[in-house]
Amino acid sequence: MKRSIALFIILTLLICAVGCAPLPEPADTFVAAMDTEMTLRLYGDTDGSAAKYLTAELFRLDAVFSPTEESSTLYSLNRFKTIRDADILSLLQTADEISARTNGALDVTLLPLSRLWGFIGASYYLPTADEIAETSRRTGTDKYEVVDDSVRLKGDAELDFGALAKGYAADVCRAYLEGLDMPALLTLGGNVQSVGDKPGGEPWMIGIQDPRQPEACIMTLALRGTNAVVTSGDYQRCFDLDGVRYCHIIDPATGSPVQNDLCSVTIVADSGVLADGLSTALFVMGPDAAFEHWRQSDDFEAVFVLKDGTVYVTEGLKGAVRNCNFEVVSR
Ligand code: ADP
Ligand code: MG
Repeated sequence: MKRSIALFIILTLLICAVGCAPLPEPADTFVAAMDTEMTLRLYGDTDGSAAKYLTAELFRLDAVFSPTEESSTLYSLNRFKTIRDADILSLLQTADEISARTNGALDVTLLPLSRLWGFIGASYYLPTADEIAETSRRTGTDKYEVVDDSVRLKGDAELDFGALAKGYAADVCRAYLEGLDMPALLTLGGNVQSVGDKPGGEPWMIGIQDPRQPEACIMTLALRGTNAVVTSGDYQRCFDLDGVRYCHIIDPATGSPVQNDLCSVTIVADSGVLADGLSTALFVMGPDAAFEHWRQSDDFEAVFVLKDGTVYVTEGLKGAVRNCNFEVVSR
């Protein structure tokens, strides 16, 4: 009898201790890296060591993947045409997979075209058809190869991981935070990454930018657990000329900025790099081919905002949408 009373007291104390434990406090760290502003909201990083580690990792990855910084690993590859680097190799292999499943819509060799159109350094320019054709000769997924873990570029090809690098960085951060069991909400420019459940039991509330009013949200997604939420759109880096919008996402089939009915594509997936790669690729594909790609896949959900203002949401995400009218894309 005495033993069961003691057990009862211990259990009551334990339940109280768990129930009354204070929730881990969020703390924000701001990082300017990868050509964008980032916010790391970490829950329970009491001594700031996780924020410090992640900040260093983000700077390290910036120094690998920057296409314009002369000291970067990628810059060296583009200049000397060969490199042996684990991050570049890993990201190139993922890029190949996403390129294959999207019929070549994702193409990491378009840097010469981005430069021609002035998207590097924001010195926008409308090239002639001849200039586009001439520059396109330097692009294509047949312009690189991997030999003994080294990446080699053919001729005057150059690589650019702008469509994927932030997603890759989000995955690196997520793996570290999962190892610490530390919930977090990371915003790396247009890439949002939640890690674990939000302390307190509420879902993470993730705003999707309104492409035609980027300071406002077109909707909020209420999502639980770990998710990558990545948006590609025609409003981030773009110029308008004679009523036509030219945006920084290039259609490899034409060598020109994408022209279709989409304003933005948001991908929700487990993997940050997959979400990032698909957001760019599906933007290139246009709504109908993108819907079809979703029907044939089981590893992502998506939100599409069209130029006429219609919002399409894939079936698996419809319960997560707050504050927006939308059409459902079904299987
Ligand atoms: P953001 O950089 O705004 O997050 P994205 O993830 O969609 O947007 O990546 C766009 C960047 O990817 C461009 O700025 C360019 O560097 C590169 N890019 C443009 N078109 C393509 C493409 N078809 N495939 C792969 N990369 C591309
Ligand atoms: Mg992308």
